[in-house]
Amino acid sequence: MIKTLYLRVVLTFSAVVVISILLSFLIAMLLYTNRISTEVLDNLLKVGKQLVTMSNDYQPLEIKSFLEASTKLNDGYSLILFDSSGDNVAFSIQSKNESLNIKAEEVEQVLQGQIYKSMYLNYGYFGEPTRLVVGVPLSVKDKQYALFVMPKFTEESRKQSRTLIITVLLIVLIIGSVLILIASRYIVSPIKKLTLATNRLARGNFNVKVTVKRKDEIGLLAEGFNHMAGELKQLEQMRQDFVSNVSHEIQSPLTSIRGFSKALKQPDLKDEDRLRYLEIIERESERLSRLSENLLKLASLESEHHPFKPTTFDLDEQLRRVAVSYEPQWSAKQLDMDMDLPRVKITADADQLSQVWMNLLGNAIKFTPAEGNIRIQIIPLTDRVRVRIQDSGIGILPEDQERIYERFYKADASRHRESSGSGLGLAIVRKIIELHQGTMDVQSEIDRGTTFTITLPILIHPTKKH
Ligand code: ADP
Repeated sequence: MIKTLYLRVVLTFSAVVVISILLSFLIAMLLYTNRISTEVLDNLLKVGKQLVTMSNDYQPLEIKSFLEASTKLNDGYSLILFDSSGDNVAFSIQSKNESLNIKAEEVEQVLQGQIYKSMYLNYGYFGEPTRLVVGVPLSVKDKQYALFVMPKFTEESRKQSRTLIITVLLIVLIIGSVLILIASRYIVSPIKKLTLATNRLARGNFNVKVTVKRKDEIGLLAEGFNHMAGELKQLEQMRQDFVSNVSHEIQSPLTSIRGFSKALKQPDLKDEDRLRYLEIIERESERLSRLSENLLKLASLESEHHPFKPTTFDLDEQLRRVAVSYEPQWSAKQLDMDMDLPRVKITADADQLSQVWMNLLGNAIKFTPAEGNIRIQIIPLTDRVRVRIQDSGIGILPEDQERIYERFYKADASRHRESSGSGLGLAIVRKIIELHQGTMDVQSEIDRGTTFTITLPILIHPTKKH
């Protein structure tokens, strides 16, 4: 069982090298033996024919010495001569064995005046030697001879070429293996780094970063890993912030409830004080319950399974109802409520949208000083509708405008502590608008007022909600 990727890569590469060397050697042998053999046979035939011409021209007295002299001039081949009785009369080869390669019927064929060419045999280098021989008829002083010409392959030269080939293959294999060992380290080392980093990440250390300079798939994987680690770190930070924010939001009403409950225990408490303390306790409990309600709502909106029930209803009617429900608050502050609400039908989740207007109008009333103005406006567009909620309140600083949608973010924290809620309202609003495929933006100027503009599609397709 191969356990490490390194070993696996090395073994795979080595196997590939060995197999490709063997295959290429075999293929080369098959391709070239044929061609080389044909060329060698042609040359042998040429030599044989030259010797025949020469002996015809000079009519040597002693055929044996004539042939010996000619082999001295060119020792690239061996000659074997057979006389008309088929006896081997002369040869110029070191190993007599080779003469045995020539069969009696071949000698007979040449003695009858035919040229003999051996067939090449594709045995290859490691098997039987390829048999290359040419026989030509020769007649000297009316005597018939058969002259066989063959290349001079000594056993020694064969061995040498075999050793050469094996040595070359071994060198290729050794150099290849060493290079593979080095190359595999290069491939495997970033994976090792990634594994280490993953383990560290799994143990909760989010400050991991893998440095891989490569731009290939592994480089991309490392980049993806770093990105993921960054996101996880951010998520962890958000989680911690969330927990501390929630605890903080729970802590302050609880502290005040505890304080006023203690105060209520005093026996000589005036009735009006007791009533005031009870009112504070009631308000703080309501605040706590609103907080938990909002947290649950936000969690539910962010989950994939939040119910989304679109119905078709009058948007202007809904806005009017919300404005009326806030009547006690804006009347108390003597705010001028101006409504410009032409009739518009919309298909959306009515409960969710109602929550949006409650939050936006609630904020507008909350953050507008007495005798200010609030304007609610519907602007119908072709396939969308725009709702504008405008107040003449305290306004939001430009640097806060981007952050007001974050959970628990309260831009007015230092300025209007008493009027602040939990900072979840706009986070919920934005989530609902997102689910409705709408957009929202805010324009605000300090002490001049704030305008929230929501644009929604008139018809939302229920399946496209996420
Ligand atoms: P909260 O419950 O505190 O109102 P929100 O999420 O609704 O939380 O609002 C976040 C913050 O945005 C508020 O604390 C306030 O500072 C600011 N804000 C929202 N609406 C207005 C507005 N109409 N005028 C001024 N400030 C606003």
